[in-house]
Amino acid sequence: MTPKVIVVGAVNVDMVVTAPTLPRAGETVVGPGVERHGGGKGANAAVAASRAGATVHYLGAVGDDDLGRTALAELSTENVIVDDVEVIGRCSTGVALIVVDDAGENQIAVGGGANIRLSVDRLRAGLVASLPETDCVLVSTEIPDDAVVTAVELATAAGVRCLLNPAPVIPAVHRLIDRGAILTPNRGELAALVDPSAATGAPTTDQAIEHARALNARSRAPVVVTLGGDGALLVDPDGGAEHVAALPATVRDTTGAGDTFNGVLAATLASGTSLREAVTDANTAAALSVARLGARAGMPTAAELDLARA
Ligand code: ATP
Repeated sequence: MTPKVIVVGAVNVDMVVTAPTLPRAGETVVGPGVERHGGGKGANAAVAASRAGATVHYLGAVGDDDLGRTALAELSTENVIVDDVEVIGRCSTGVALIVVDDAGENQIAVGGGANIRLSVDRLRAGLVASLPETDCVLVSTEIPDDAVVTAVELATAAGVRCLLNPAPVIPAVHRLIDRGAILTPNRGELAALVDPSAATGAPTTDQAIEHARALNARSRAPVVVTLGGDGALLVDPDGGAEHVAALPATVRDTTGAGDTFNGVLAATLASGTSLREAVTDANTAAALSVARLGARAGMPTAAELDLARA
């Protein structure tokens, strides 16, 4: 049986400029490259899950404009089902302005557009229709608080495994911590979840384990922390903590590494494997993805993942 995944989150059009350095406030940097790519954490993760072999139903919103039609066509080409995506009139599709420097680091500004006008009623109808046949739901947070709450509550109430990628950490995430979803923050998001008022900066790996244990105590669910070039952590409510080291990678562009990780995590979990195996697969897929420019270009297919596992 093909694993079935629902992805709820944002879809954007990414405008990517490559430049020698990232601009500081008030600075203009000029680089040689400009490209347009499909983006948005939800849509990117949907593509990653589809390439990894899942049947993926994407739920989100686009504007009634050329950018939106292009975004949906690109998702369809990736075999992502977009039948229940909301198309909102007199509203722009979401846009991300991305600068990538020579070291592969990025800086991103997002105009939310249709993503932040997503209708909760429309989303609920899409979820109710698809949840009975779904193995895993992945929710990310560049959409309204109410939409995130609705998706996580419906999935967990239906007993469907739910991943909540708190990128960024919006108020809804704090309200949802005890609902049993598996949280998948990066280091900075983990710090923001544990202590919203503190500007403590990114935790070390040891601090991340302690932070994740604090979340475990409230969520009674596993926490998966992405650690960039250090790989990922799986911290269980029983106190077990496992560090999965990153695969060596020649980094070209880390944009979308987290989306690849989350999408493959959802697809692998949906196929019935253990969370430990799913984290290993997600970590492998994300390392493959950072070697190419653009959030989706480097996302591996199921065949490429098989090769990398061997
Ligand atoms: P982004 O916002 O750039 O999509 P993120 O901040 O959500 O990323 P990260 O923790 O930076 O997420 O990275 C996600 C995953 O990507 C990591 O857990 C790891 O598996 C992989 N990864 C990231 N950077 C590297 C790297 N330099 N080498 C190998 N793997 C990497």
